[in-house]
Amino acid sequence: MSRIQGIVVALLPALLCCAAFGGDGSDYHVNKDPAARLFRLSPFAHGYIHGYEAGFAMGDDDVQMGRGDQHIEKTGEFRDADREYQRAFGDRENFRAGYREGLVVGYHDALTGGEFRALNELRRLATGLESDLVVSSADAGYDGGFLAGYRAARQDHANDCSGAPASASKEHFCSGFLDGYELGDSDSGAIATAQEHAPPPPVAAGNRRAPKR
Ligand SMILES: [Zn+2]
Repeated sequence: MSRIQGIVVALLPALLCCAAFGGDGSDYHVNKDPAARLFRLSPFAHGYIHGYEAGFAMGDDDVQMGRGDQHIEKTGEFRDADREYQRAFGDRENFRAGYREGLVVGYHDALTGGEFRALNELRRLATGLESDLVVSSADAGYDGGFLAGYRAARQDHANDCSGAPASASKEHFCSGFLDGYELGDSDSGAIATAQEHAPPPPVAAGNRRAPKR
């Protein structure tokens, strides 16, 4: 084998990898993750995990560099919230809404020395999905409920899904609402616990995050 052939053979797995992960339908979460059926069903939950992963990495970075809280809400990631979005994921606005929630929570978890909790939470919710919700594409009723339930929990409102829009299947909306509420409740709990144990680190003066990274 020539030297060039050797290099091509050595690189082949990498080339295959990136071709396989480049286009629509190649996203890890909706294809390989144990919570894939939840991510396919709910663009909000899917956006949430993308945001959480990005936020956690950014928070970890700021901790490692001793930068303190850099106000994640002011970053380009928060503003755009859809850089990793693909049309096959479903509703773009719900994906963005979830991305922003996940970004803030993931950033906060990393900054306060918390664990990377989100995937375990979402996998647990995915395991509990009713069998009629195990479908291969987004379900607007479930997804809208998930978003509404998540926000209700974060704003300390009652766990009450009676506000389903007339257009949505009430059952699917309520299933989503319950699951979103559980996630929001667990996020609020984690944030409250972190605040009890350690006040947020002070903002490092004169060391703002660059607007894009
Ligand atoms: Zn994904």
